[in-house]
Amino acid sequence: MQTALRKAKGTGMSVLMREIEALMEANHLNLCLECGKCSAVCPMVNFYGEYVHNRCARSVVERLSFDPEDIDDEALWYCWACKECTFFCPSGVDFQNFMTGFRQLLVSRGYIEYAHFCGACGSYMMPRRQLEYLEATLHSKGNAELLYECPNCKKGKYINTLFKLARGGGYVVPH
Ligand code: SF4
Ligand code: SF4
Repeated sequence: MQTALRKAKGTGMSVLMREIEALMEANHLNLCLECGKCSAVCPMVNFYGEYVHNRCARSVVERLSFDPEDIDDEALWYCWACKECTFFCPSGVDFQNFMTGFRQLLVSRGYIEYAHFCGACGSYMMPRRQLEYLEATLHSKGNAELLYECPNCKKGKYINTLFKLARGGGYVVPH
């Protein structure tokens, strides 16, 4: 976590904290009632095979509310941003949207240790834990290579292939 610490310490840290607090406010994390519904519907237990409280929405909301500087922890990179908790939250906490923005913010400040990036363009794709789960699932089906490039790069390759075929006369792009 050297990179993250280098980038976040000092004056940059207070700016990052303000941005995190703004994200928390925009996604209504302060309205959490601690009812636990998000933990009950969260599918992480199916992916990781165990329930770990500090990876769940309720726990993350609580810890960041008390200490928004507590961000140097892999527990923040287990959530799949699936939106189940957001859908069922009785208080309007949009944890999925918060987590998506939160990770983009962390990655932009050098917190990359727990993130997986596109091998072609380098853009952030997903948490490493999510990659590991999907790799294990897709390897058995022979589709794991789908995980190493982002949708935009895959689309770009597909368009380039079509373009080459069209120029070579082997394919005519329909109008
Ligand atoms: S479901 Fe909503 S209100 Fe309940 S603990 Fe989770 S985030 Fe808080
Ligand atoms: S968005 Fe994250 S915390 Fe919420 S239900 Fe999905 S995996 Fe669980």
